[in-house]
Amino acid sequence: MPHSLMLFKNRLTEEAKRLRAELLQDLSQSEHFFEREIALKLKATPDINWIELLQDKIYPTLNKKVIRLNKVEAALCQFEQGVYGICADCEDAISLLKLEQDPTEQRCLPCADKSAV
Ligand SMILES: [Zn+2]
Repeated sequence: MPHSLMLFKNRLTEEAKRLRAELLQDLSQSEHFFEREIALKLKATPDINWIELLQDKIYPTLNKKVIRLNKVEAALCQFEQGVYGICADCEDAISLLKLEQDPTEQRCLPCADKSAV
């Protein structure tokens, strides 16, 4: 694994940590009882199972963070599988510039353009 990619792994790990802390704080301070209950449940749930627990419920206000956490975790999972930074469509390497903009990027520039049309 090239060193440059390892930097993205650190970034993704930090982002996942931050998102989890934010979600926990948001839920703990929620005015809705059921959301505070979820916060308690999350505290007793291993990190990797958070998405499962959160996705079952719909939190319009927190949805963006849950979706982002899901993407970040998927990218971290790709590190484990040794396929991080590889385009999901053509299997070319995704440019570092693109990963720099968003380390959860799944497509190289030509493929991203194609799927945007
Ligand atoms: Zn591609």
